[in-house]
Amino acid sequence: MLRLNGHPSGRHFLQIPGPTNVPDRILRAMDHPTIDHRGPEFQAMALKVLRDVRQVFQTVQPVVIYPSSGTGAWEAALVNTLSPGDRVLMVETGHFATLWKKIAEKIGLKPEFIVGDWRRGVDVAAVEARLREDKGQAIKAVCVVHNETSTAVTSDIAGVRRAIDAAKHPALLMVDTISSLGSIDYRHDEWGVDVTVGGSQKGLMLPPGLSFNAISEKALAASKSSTLIRSYWSWEEQLAMNANGWFPYTPATNLLYGLSEAVDMLMEEGLATVFARHARHAEATRRAVRAWGLELLCVNPAEYSNSLTAVLMPAGHDADAFRKVVLTKFNMSLGQGLTKVAGKVFRIGHLGDFNDLSLIGTLGGVEMGLAVAGVPHKVGGTQAAMDYLKSVASGGAQAHARAAE
Ligand SMILES: *Cc1c(COP(=O)(O)O)cnc(C)c1O
Repeated sequence: MLRLNGHPSGRHFLQIPGPTNVPDRILRAMDHPTIDHRGPEFQAMALKVLRDVRQVFQTVQPVVIYPSSGTGAWEAALVNTLSPGDRVLMVETGHFATLWKKIAEKIGLKPEFIVGDWRRGVDVAAVEARLREDKGQAIKAVCVVHNETSTAVTSDIAGVRRAIDAAKHPALLMVDTISSLGSIDYRHDEWGVDVTVGGSQKGLMLPPGLSFNAISEKALAASKSSTLIRSYWSWEEQLAMNANGWFPYTPATNLLYGLSEAVDMLMEEGLATVFARHARHAEATRRAVRAWGLELLCVNPAEYSNSLTAVLMPAGHDADAFRKVVLTKFNMSLGQGLTKVAGKVFRIGHLGDFNDLSLIGTLGGVEMGLAVAGVPHKVGGTQAAMDYLKSVASGGAQAHARAAE
């Protein structure tokens, strides 16, 4: 039974891979009376946040901020750059790639899907081969998910860029970074990405409600001649208004205060340190999973995600029954398996506002939950994670940071 009555003491452990735990500093930054979004105080804040948020995308190009969930930014990326009937090449890394493809279909594009088995990232060679075949350059965009949150698999975006260049193909490159931004190294400019899609509620440590498009010059040029219908999502008005610190419609004022604080926090820690921290927690988690004798969904070590881990349940055991035990007994939410892997997989989110001890609490809850739910496993996963974190803390740290680069 869920304990619905009474207040459980201590903090809830929100260890789904987003939304993530919102740190007190961000909660306080948002705890303001809402101000006039046409007034000078707002303008100064907006100019700062529109400038600084670019650092998180590792870009000097404009970033548009929508008051929407990430799904809106997916649609925005497509409707601003493409025309009805355009072909787009997408890759079935998992649930989120599939949802993005469905949007492409609904708005009148012709997506081609490179099928996948939900255990690997983007097959860069397959992308290159398909683009080489496309002599007439009918494909207008390649759209991929950097960190596939349904499978805990991270794809090689620099590799996708090289594949497009090797095929000498002019297609735009669009990348969903909703569960990697601010957690896993991502470089909009250096990797030649044309539109980067982001969301507020994962690595950025904010509540849900903001989404992002980082826009290259090439994407902006494409938007001038593309003809898909757009109004709310249109970059043109956003960019014109943003230049002076304004928005074309009421922005999510208080979330923008939170975003400003989140960017400050990431920059104070330093992106390299943030990425190394996520790599450390991901490695510790994988060591725990192996010690439990359980299997990772991701089959390629080069593609292990640093923001979450997806774990296969032993045959005959339901992941959702296990997650329910963890929630009721230990007040922790774990991520469910989505669509194709429903009931077969549970996901441990270790991204955002997180440290070594929050990870040990999380893994302790998983390990106790496995025992209480009667899931066959070996004890000692949490200990294996502690051993790893101890070794990093007592000098392996520099070696670890180098390894994470
Ligand atoms: C969470 C997530 C989304 C969906 O974002 P919403 O905010 O729920 O619309 C899309 N892509 C990825 C990779 C995600 O992790």
